[in-house]
Amino acid sequence: MSMGRNWKAVIMVGMVSDFSGKTYLDYAASTPVAEEVMAAMLPFFTNRFGNPSSTHSFGQSAEAGIERARATVAELLNCTPQEVIFTSGGTESNNLAIRGTALARREKTGADHILISPVEHPAAATTAQQLADMFGFELELLPVDETGRVSPQAVQERLRPSTALVSIIYGNNEIGTINPIQQIARVCREAEIPLHTDAVQAAAHLSIDVAELGVSLLSIGAHKFYGPKGVGALFISKGTPILPTQTGGSHESGLRAGTSNTPLIVGLAKALETTRASLPKVNPALISLRDQLIQSILQTVPDSLLTGHARERLPNHASFAFRHVDGNELSMLLDAHGFACSSGSACKSGSPEPSRTLLAMGLTHEWALGSIRVSLGRATEPADVDRFVQTLPLLVEAARRLGATA
Ligand SMILES: *Cc1c(COP(=O)(O)O)cnc(C)c1O
Repeated sequence: MSMGRNWKAVIMVGMVSDFSGKTYLDYAASTPVAEEVMAAMLPFFTNRFGNPSSTHSFGQSAEAGIERARATVAELLNCTPQEVIFTSGGTESNNLAIRGTALARREKTGADHILISPVEHPAAATTAQQLADMFGFELELLPVDETGRVSPQAVQERLRPSTALVSIIYGNNEIGTINPIQQIARVCREAEIPLHTDAVQAAAHLSIDVAELGVSLLSIGAHKFYGPKGVGALFISKGTPILPTQTGGSHESGLRAGTSNTPLIVGLAKALETTRASLPKVNPALISLRDQLIQSILQTVPDSLLTGHARERLPNHASFAFRHVDGNELSMLLDAHGFACSSGSACKSGSPEPSRTLLAMGLTHEWALGSIRVSLGRATEPADVDRFVQTLPLLVEAARRLGATA
């Protein structure tokens, strides 16, 4: 295959990670920090350590790092620097967007209806649920099709004059499905209702041009694109009502109090910049590997299906359900054989719970309990995928035998 050589040349650049013989296939959970990102952050832990709010030269030096990072992120998102707020991660960005906008809109207009999809990340779903349970909002869940997609028409039909906010995930962390955010945003703009999108997975692979997408709010988190954990950003388009959810000093235009984490913010900007620059080469390589993996698994494993959309899916993302398999058991077997992937079901006090996302898509319990996610990244090589697709069928069989005798 001619792809092998290009792949290595393109992808291994900037990686310092050594997986010591193990195969990491869980990039949707987290990514290693790239070498150039580490290098960009280091001076801000030491020489440029000042409090960015201080007016002396130490503070100004740190402040300059943050404002440069903000300008970089704004350019990559195609917005103004004033529209970018740094946070502690994807979770906080989702919290600030949803809680902050819902509360501000109700204060201004009385709007108290929140519309979200049933396949949101818990950071969005739980925030909306709390607004319903504790703060008197009415929460409505949109329907999704069997691939986990929301249709613009479904949004249009459910928008009300009293809708405070719509929040819909862009690239799904669990099933990889990409939502038609641009079309949904058009519907929301016509009704003058703010749309937030959780782009935490999407930022590593899809367009995040907020002008093109037309969204009011967009969340990202650095550790999903080769940046550090504990830092994220939120795009808030000018004029969108929003209340700070963390109060204190006037940091981040008064929307996110607390001394800014200079090194991590600088790292986020560097990671976003290098990740976005790599996409024209990385995405086609990932799509090719992803599709080989999907095709092979569906052919060799009996009673298997792809969860999520076959084509409208994140380039690095494959997810499956296997009937009569415990997904947690399977991911443990995979780990014992040197493969790190994740299972879709949460293990609550010993008894597995199928994921809300898979149930919302219409999967039955017997399928939904046997889900796994395999996500590829910069260091994934064709040989990794080859070894994975050779091993998985045997382990599914082993997991089925274990289940049958349990
Ligand atoms: C990881 C993730 C989050 C949470 O981001 P953190 O930075 O880990 O807090 C939110 N949404 C999606 C889709 C994610 O994949």
